[in-house]
Amino acid sequence: MVGAGPAGSASAALLARSGLKVLLLEMRRFPRDKPCGGGLTLKTVRLLEEFGFHQSELPIQRLLDRVLVRGWGRSVEVFHNPWVIATVDRADFDASLVHWAEAEGAEFLDGEPAIGVSTGGEGLVVRTRRNAYSADWVIGADGVAGSVGRWVGLRSGYPPGELIAAVESRPSGGYDVALFQMDAVPRGGYGWAFPLSGRVTVGVGGMLPLMENLKGHLERYVRSLGLRLDTPVEYGVIPIGRSRRLASGRVLLVGDAAGLADPLTGEGIYQALVSARAASQAILSGDPGLYERLLGPLLQDLELRAKAANVVLPRMKRFYDYMASDPEIARRYTLANVGELEFREFWRWVWTRVPLAVAKRLASRLGRR
Ligand SMILES: Cc1cc2nc3c(=O)[nH]c(=O)nc-3n(C[C@H](O)[C@H](O)[C@H](O)COP(=O)(O)OP(=O)(O)OC[C@H]3O[C@@H](n4cnc5c(N)ncnc54)[C@H](O)[C@@H]3O)c2cc1C
Repeated sequence: MVGAGPAGSASAALLARSGLKVLLLEMRRFPRDKPCGGGLTLKTVRLLEEFGFHQSELPIQRLLDRVLVRGWGRSVEVFHNPWVIATVDRADFDASLVHWAEAEGAEFLDGEPAIGVSTGGEGLVVRTRRNAYSADWVIGADGVAGSVGRWVGLRSGYPPGELIAAVESRPSGGYDVALFQMDAVPRGGYGWAFPLSGRVTVGVGGMLPLMENLKGHLERYVRSLGLRLDTPVEYGVIPIGRSRRLASGRVLLVGDAAGLADPLTGEGIYQALVSARAASQAILSGDPGLYERLLGPLLQDLELRAKAANVVLPRMKRFYDYMASDPEIARRYTLANVGELEFREFWRWVWTRVPLAVAKRLASRLGRR
């Protein structure tokens, strides 16, 4: 495994549990931070529970059962029992997944970057400055800037249209809801605020080609929340263009290294875990081709979400108008993003519902005259 984010650690844990000898290589020293809202959707925590990692063992700081979707002076609230988003500090969360992998029997080496993977006659070899490790399989879990995909010819970076750009900070303050601010950037994105204990992760982002002056938008958004930008601002990119091929021989790409984040929301931890599970099942079966087959449902979902993102993100105001006029749209959209409803089902339904939202919006405008 190259990279000890959620994708790498979960792959390591699942494989080590099945008795394989696993080495988890990480370039940075742990615990390490990572620019991230730290929002775990309900489906993410449920998947970790399926892996045998109970909610109470996760370093969750807040469980939020209310989402506020705001924009252009309006606000819609969505409530869901038991909760919709759990928040974590990524340094703690990623460290807890590494401990899980170690407890299952994986060997973890941090501060040791992989500098190459060779696939020649001597089999697979992962090289670091200190050593060369032979392996039957290699999982590239090295994130958005990872190199494993490049070394084995699976991908060569991302064009700007396949990246979400984001900035965030963690000012001190208290909030009890997960907040989405749909007008935080002029177009092509949105803002979010996820409370931790005593701090709030506040960020703005969107489709890279449409993003300008993100830091300025973040400053304005933080001020509008009554908070002060008193902590460092971090920049990050989220890959939303999956590689055409996710496997080359016995080298598999997972998580951000494979470009599997959600084009609509920027969520990536869930997809990191789903791909870790599929990769470990393929390795245990001895069939690399099984990996992409197992990922089929996720890939189809991401494809539809990419289409939806191209429709919705550049026209956020119109989409938000529909949500604000018809809160059932906001409710189902939220449920579709946290795994309580198939996104396909939501997308089909919303087109039957939009005319009603348009009618309601017109009626309220006429009523105001
Ligand atoms: C601003 C921002 C906010 C986000 N908010 C959310 C959110 O709220 N919820 C959500 O679900 N997702 C969010 N995401 C997306 C999420 O952070 C990623 O999708 C997720 O971290 C992907 O996990 P991963 O394991 O694939 O990669 P990563 O978490 O990036 O882990 C990759 C690891 O590989 C290591 N590595 C890289 N190269 C090498 C090498 N050569 N050798 C050894 N190790 C190497 C890195 O140091 C790193 O530890 C956000 C992203 C950003 C940028």
